[in-house]
Amino acid sequence: MKLLRFSVDGGTVRLGKLVGDEVVAFGAAAAPANGSMRVLLERMTDLRPALEAAGGPRHRRDAVMLHAPIDDPQKFLAIGMNYRAHAEEAAAAGIPTPKSQLWFNKQVSCITGPYSPVELPRASDKVDYEAELAFVIGSRCRDVPAEDALSAVAGYMVCNDVTARDWQFRSPTYTLGKSFDTHGPIGPWITTADEVPDPASLEMVLRVNGEERQRSSTGDMIYDIAAQIAYLSTVMTLMPGDVIATGTPAGVGIAANRFLADGDVVRVEISGLGAIENRFVAAG
Ligand code: MN
Repeated sequence: MKLLRFSVDGGTVRLGKLVGDEVVAFGAAAAPANGSMRVLLERMTDLRPALEAAGGPRHRRDAVMLHAPIDDPQKFLAIGMNYRAHAEEAAAAGIPTPKSQLWFNKQVSCITGPYSPVELPRASDKVDYEAELAFVIGSRCRDVPAEDALSAVAGYMVCNDVTARDWQFRSPTYTLGKSFDTHGPIGPWITTADEVPDPASLEMVLRVNGEERQRSSTGDMIYDIAAQIAYLSTVMTLMPGDVIATGTPAGVGIAANRFLADGDVVRVEISGLGAIENRFVAAG
């Protein structure tokens, strides 16, 4: 299934699924989730048959607004320097390749929709894009061995790990530079894991105003998703709905000292998962 959140004509945000080119509301089938994708994922084992059978109401995809498929995760974590070619471009700029997995937080308040505007804050003049595959945890887990780890994944989506580079390097935690409001566009929906047989063979492309800047296979990751789950769950309990961004390939703006400007449109597409497209807008 392709799980999403949508609204029609500015109305209530509802849970639903994409079927072909139509958005289908879950309606009563998702009532136990009370409007929360996080709760829906917590209860997926029980709810799945009713969600799969849910038949409407239906809307044309271009007649609805898609919102971030999950807006209330408990955690939003991201790994840095996790693509070989990106680690090489960073090393060329004097940033050493980490010897272990480099994790940081994006505060969950930065989440925004797949087609929503992203703010260029007055406080930064070095806002940059990072195309990423994100996954969403489906089952509560701790100390997961890598060989079992993919069973903890509910699904996958596209993410742009928008970054204020000037703020990123003011602190080794990266947190502030990764967490400006609207700097976490995700979507356009969560493609459930059963529809993604190999998350290590997806093609990702990022374009700015139509010009290709990043292109890679997710197979270029240094630490694959199973290794990421094993490592993180050594430390903390992963919860249904947790969002984890898996790193960006080469081609980020900072490598060319080229940052985003008012009106730029950044599109990130991953094979089988759809595309997100956000216009960057100067703070008003
Ligand atoms: Mn990133």
